[in-house]
Amino acid sequence: MKAWQLTGTEGIGSFALNDVPEPDPGRGQVRVDLEVSGLNHLDLWMSQGLPAPKELPHTTGADGAGVVDAIGDGVAGFEIGDEIILDPSMSCGECAHCRSDEIVYCESFGILGEHHPGTFTEKIVIPTINAVRKPEELSWEEAGSFGLAGVTALRMLEKARLRGGETVLVVGVGGGVSASAMYQALALGARVFVTSRSQEKIAWALGEGASGGFDSNGEFGKEMAGEGGADLVIDNVGAATLNQSMRAAKRGGRIAICGSTSGGKFELSIPTLFFRHLELVGSSMGNHAQFARALNWIRLGKAKAPVAKSFHFSELPDALRFLESGEQIGNVALRHQAG
Ligand SMILES: [Zn+2]
Repeated sequence: MKAWQLTGTEGIGSFALNDVPEPDPGRGQVRVDLEVSGLNHLDLWMSQGLPAPKELPHTTGADGAGVVDAIGDGVAGFEIGDEIILDPSMSCGECAHCRSDEIVYCESFGILGEHHPGTFTEKIVIPTINAVRKPEELSWEEAGSFGLAGVTALRMLEKARLRGGETVLVVGVGGGVSASAMYQALALGARVFVTSRSQEKIAWALGEGASGGFDSNGEFGKEMAGEGGADLVIDNVGAATLNQSMRAAKRGGRIAICGSTSGGKFELSIPTLFFRHLELVGSSMGNHAQFARALNWIRLGKAKAPVAKSFHFSELPDALRFLESGEQIGNVALRHQAG
């Protein structure tokens, strides 16, 4: 079978379509014949060595959906032909954190496609805990591309204790995580504002239910304060926006952070933090139950998992360049079937 593998860390050109052996499911595992693989910025960063794969060649890809086509020993409750979404959060399954479904704190926590061979392949073997039934309401493209972004956004909102009726500001709304956060915050009954560098993305957010939008490059902290301030600011842009995000928060507000795409360091005004009673909340990925809740919002139609564009499996480099352009609204998917 074929798999797209990183053979180096010189960017998108380091992906090669290789012949690899078909994996057999071990005890407690199923094999999934993928219908769709989903792209994430993680794939672009890994292609640049940020972080570098532990060994090369390495198959990246955190998201996917497909059909069970082989079942390992000791597996109950799955049959050949079952339609499955892959939950990308991997852990040991044995430690106290795993047993209480706080797998993100597991010493062995990892992500499909980063720490384990990923979904840019025809078939993949996964533990059954990572195989989630695909609701009929979702298309293959939606099912195979929302996961990493959806679970990351939901955990941030839950960790930062978002309640209905609160005001949320989503910074840089075009990307997968922030778009998911916007939909989930709306589903939870929050009043949502957004920022973007693109007027088109702001217009899209307003059309989806956001109450207002500001330019990410401007004084959006002051503008948000003019609207009464935010109880919760969702920021995965990082260095370029965090000071404005702190200004945008109300007294006692929370700023939840799950990424730093514009840079990993910024100068923190400590008096601003304590005089204004602010909380900085770090979060990364999510637990299996949070994945299930993120999926449920989409199944119920309360949140959406927009697919900006889907490409054929053979077109991965084009799909990655499209993702890298940052112009898309929503997720990017790879279809395995022709047509
Ligand atoms: Zn564990």
